[in-house]
Amino acid sequence: MDELDGQGVHPLVELNPEEAARRSGSPVHLGGAFETTGAIVQPALLARGLRRVALERGVRIFERSPMTQLDRGTSSPRVRTPAGSVAAGRVVVAMNAWAARFAEVRRRIVVVGSDIVATERTPDRLAAIGWTDGLSISDSRLLVHYYRTTDDGRIAFGKGGGALGFSRWVGSRFEGESRRRDLVERAFRRTYPMLNDVRITSSWTGPIDRTRTGLPFFWRLGGRPDVFVGVGYSGNGVGPSYLAGRILASLVLGRDDEWARCGLVRTPAGRFPPEPFRFLGGHVVRGAIARKERAEDDGRRADRLTKALVRLAPAGLVPLDQD
Ligand SMILES: Cc1cc2nc3c(=O)[nH]c(=O)nc-3n(C[C@H](O)[C@H](O)[C@H](O)COP(=O)(O)OP(=O)(O)OC[C@H]3O[C@@H](n4cnc5c(N)ncnc54)[C@H](O)[C@@H]3O)c2cc1C
Repeated sequence: MDELDGQGVHPLVELNPEEAARRSGSPVHLGGAFETTGAIVQPALLARGLRRVALERGVRIFERSPMTQLDRGTSSPRVRTPAGSVAAGRVVVAMNAWAARFAEVRRRIVVVGSDIVATERTPDRLAAIGWTDGLSISDSRLLVHYYRTTDDGRIAFGKGGGALGFSRWVGSRFEGESRRRDLVERAFRRTYPMLNDVRITSSWTGPIDRTRTGLPFFWRLGGRPDVFVGVGYSGNGVGPSYLAGRILASLVLGRDDEWARCGLVRTPAGRFPPEPFRFLGGHVVRGAIARKERAEDDGRRADRLTKALVRLAPAGLVPLDQD
């Protein structure tokens, strides 16, 4: 923050508990940091808008044609699909957590589920608690809670730290209805007890591509000059994937500009342990984090072992004030 202040950038305004309660409509927050430069988007509309513009510019999109294999042994890479294959001058792998199928990516990310529920439409109740300005909220626990309202008066409430991926596989556990719906609903009810009678109408889950640093990385897959990858948004990729488009375009076109020279274009920092240690260790650490957060929710302190295990969480996940 001091460095940002020094640059004349003041993105955060501190909120005391009363202001945090007034702005969020919830009494549970201990305080807040309001990001003055933030904005929210509806990611599905963003994806559809990008699709429309791409088509207008002559891009051909082949939906429902999954890449089953990427041949990299030949002079130019070949993308295989169930219905045929394409030899390409350049390939960009922008597959989010599913890029774990590539050995070069696998140890650089851990695939972890994020789960979300949505309520029925309830604009009157939102008005009653004063949450009408589209404020989007996330807390600072490690198994983060994030919540926002929608244009049609619902609340979408999510929780990170769900299912853990094993090795290269990102299977059906990471798609569709959430298996942690009850857990996420409990967190929602605890945050908004005055909305206890508002019904949850849907839930879903998806995979997060968490890196050790929490930062994405962009580089040449397997050192090849013609296969590029952008991955590791760590659950915050909606805005950064726009930046990523610039970076990947410059890399693909062989430009030497500020995007191609950006600090995120690098061999990714840090590796996770090999399987099965990553999977087993991940469960142990995640369990410790959940215990610590439950204890804190109940006004208790976690035991020493739990705290020590929490410190093994990837850098950037551990809050500064952890003692
Ligand atoms: C529940 C949940 C809540 C989230 N909330 C936020 C948030 O509030 N803010 C935020 O910034 N980010 C959030 N994220 C993260 C955000 O969605 C991602 O960081 C972002 O979508 C990454 O963009 P991407 O283009 O890399 O990947 P994606 O948008 O996931 O696109 C990757 C695409 O690759 C496709 N694909 C996978 N395998 C293959 C294959 N073999 N062949 C062809 N295509 C393939 C997938 O189907 C997918 O369409 C959330 C994620 C989840 C799951």
